[in-house]
Amino acid sequence: MATELDYYTVLGVERTATDAEIKKAFRKLAQQWHPDVNTDPGAQARFKEINEAYQVLSDPQRRQTYNMFGRAGLGGESGAGFDPGAFGSFSDIFDAFFGGSAAAGSRRGHPTAGSDLRYDLPITFGEAVRGTDKEIQFPVYGTCETCHGNGAKPGTEPVTCDSCGGRGEIRSTRRTMLGQMVNVTACPKCNGEGKLVTEPCPACHGEGRTERNRTLRVSIPAGIDEGHQIRLSNEGEVGVRGGPAGSLYVAVHVTPHAQLRREGTELLYEADISIVQAALGTTISVPTVDGDEPVEVKAGTQPGTEIRLRGRGVPHLRRTGSKGDLHVFVNVVVPAKLSKRQRELLAEYAIESGEVVAVGHGGILDKVRDALG
Ligand SMILES: [Zn+2]
Ligand SMILES: [Zn+2]
Repeated sequence: MATELDYYTVLGVERTATDAEIKKAFRKLAQQWHPDVNTDPGAQARFKEINEAYQVLSDPQRRQTYNMFGRAGLGGESGAGFDPGAFGSFSDIFDAFFGGSAAAGSRRGHPTAGSDLRYDLPITFGEAVRGTDKEIQFPVYGTCETCHGNGAKPGTEPVTCDSCGGRGEIRSTRRTMLGQMVNVTACPKCNGEGKLVTEPCPACHGEGRTERNRTLRVSIPAGIDEGHQIRLSNEGEVGVRGGPAGSLYVAVHVTPHAQLRREGTELLYEADISIVQAALGTTISVPTVDGDEPVEVKAGTQPGTEIRLRGRGVPHLRRTGSKGDLHVFVNVVVPAKLSKRQRELLAEYAIESGEVVAVGHGGILDKVRDALG
């Protein structure tokens, strides 16, 4: 462990590489450096690095740890791929990778599935609360219309791969001290698909898919919130040569409201009123999702009082018909500046209620002092 391995460099992929790109890079390198294939003395060490890099980058959680803390962050793990002893059985590695297990994803003899896509959709606060329909447009790989996805020039058909006989895999048996070992690898000639395109379709160059702009109507449910994603299965990219399509994830971004704050299904609003309004009562204008609305504040309302408008909050995403509330919190604001007349009136109020107040200069305030003795 003389130098620090960079897993992305080892696999020759960008740091932003998708799972499919990582898998593809590993497959290619493994076919090149697998010690059964490559007799170069350095091949074994090289393959070990490639395998280690793949074990980490193909696992979203480990990949995240690695991105944040480097190789050291993975040090405490007991997972396979780090223990040199686990390296002995290449067939295990290849069975796990190319075999039919669900974790491996890619199966022999089947075309590769298309990538998932993510679309960032900004919506307004009101749209999030009420729900909306949005038309979105994005570039995506779709099935090639010229060859209908098989990648072969019209009038020709893909032929069975002569290297693997259409099975998409190659088995090799070798004798070892421990007995006979069977290695299963994906056929390098047909990339494990079992079929070969002899005359590629001119429209898609044999890929079976072409990029185009797709327009889609997305229904945004009422009550959706910042950071939520809507998954539309099969609306992602189609795979190469008729492979199944990935999913489209629409990530919703909600513009905040200028006055209302949202917490889940609850809406919060702070209303400032004067001491006089608090004492005598008033009607204030409260912003709601449906526009401003008059709300009565009773005489004698205390600072911090909550007025609750039931059912005027946000609909529950999953419980239809159920809605949160709009909570109005009343702030009683004490005036910092008074006109002469306002001071006189408040002083009179103090006299009337027998309150001791600070004394100003001249005028009625002196009378207050006189009156209070
Ligand atoms: Zn085509
Ligand atoms: Zn083949």
